[in-house]
Amino acid sequence: MAWTPWDWIEKELAKWEHRGLRRHRSTRTGPQGAVINWNGQRLLNFGSNDYLDLAARTLSPHVQQMLGPGGWGSGASPLVTGRGEWHARLERRLAEFEGVESALLFPSGYAANIGAITALAGPGDAILSDALNHASIIDGCRLSGADIRVYRHADPSDLEQGLLENSGARRRFIVSDTLFSMGGDVAPLGPIVELASRYQAMVLVDEAHATGVLGERGRGVSELLGVETGIDVRVGTLSKALGTIGGFVAGSRLLIEWLVNQARPYIFSTALPEAAAAAGIAALDIVEQQPERRQRLLHRAARLRNELNVRELQTGASRSQIVPLILGEPGRALEWSQALRDRGLHCPAIRPPSVPTGESLLRISLTAGHTDADIDQLIQALDDIRRRDAKADA
Ligand SMILES: *Cc1c(COP(=O)(O)O)cnc(C)c1O
Repeated sequence: MAWTPWDWIEKELAKWEHRGLRRHRSTRTGPQGAVINWNGQRLLNFGSNDYLDLAARTLSPHVQQMLGPGGWGSGASPLVTGRGEWHARLERRLAEFEGVESALLFPSGYAANIGAITALAGPGDAILSDALNHASIIDGCRLSGADIRVYRHADPSDLEQGLLENSGARRRFIVSDTLFSMGGDVAPLGPIVELASRYQAMVLVDEAHATGVLGERGRGVSELLGVETGIDVRVGTLSKALGTIGGFVAGSRLLIEWLVNQARPYIFSTALPEAAAAAGIAALDIVEQQPERRQRLLHRAARLRNELNVRELQTGASRSQIVPLILGEPGRALEWSQALRDRGLHCPAIRPPSVPTGESLLRISLTAGHTDADIDQLIQALDDIRRRDAKADA
């Protein structure tokens, strides 16, 4: 056989397939929501980050309204001619919502992390990073050229050890997700903020899954745990609970000035469509005016965890709308996910590298669009699968 440049890729993909790690894509038809049409099948959807159920019906009218006068594409990066009045308005609104001086929009949460971390940290600095941080934080750390010290997940004593090891660094940064995307657990921000002040480190947190959901006013885990004044850099996304698209960084005026000048994904990427920014403003209004959306959601999540735990199904340290069902091997997670699919429910199997080896899970993500009956149906289906699984083991 003649050599082709694709042989190695084919071989590697076959290996991934064999290990149960290969990804296969499906396609949704129709809108995102608690019920979706997925590969032609109608499914109750527990795989969405649209936690407040805003992404489809609720925000569409705002986008449509904008599309008349506002048009669609932005045409350039924000520093050239891409920044419109709706971007500026949303940035002010985000700063006000977060209770800080200033905020900056990025094309995505991914870009916000890369931009903030690479603009702040560089060679000679040390970044202390939680072992389960999101890929965009990991990539930002790697790109920055700083020394990276990964500390054990949510472990302040290992973090302190890392700070001691890096006392000679030019600057120190602690970076962490606040609500972990797979475990649904929250970072120990109290001890983190205290250590940061003791060891003179800057704290960057990523509230991607918590913005709009946790905390009295929906500002996230920093608000929930009462440590907002100790957080120097807050990263968030508009694409999860806020139902639109885009990322942001919120903090001091100086921080934002620095990012405008230094954050490459801000400088070299086209601004979001203004209609997306208008939708973001509408979403923040809803977060403020309808606290019952998040309260109901968290209440249902607590009930789900409880119902699963009494059936000896393990949900780890979750205390949020993200409820992991921990299953272990990737093959088992895939089997359970398929068994749910056969019953008309969608819960994605999460496998390495998204979770550590041996900790594959079903990620159950609740939204304000689910009813109590939807959750009952999920509990019933999981209970059936558990019984069948136990029988097969016996
Ligand atoms: C989803 C996610 C991001 C990326 O946000 P996007 O707006 O989807 O790019 C960043 N950080 C965390 C923790 C996330 O879960």
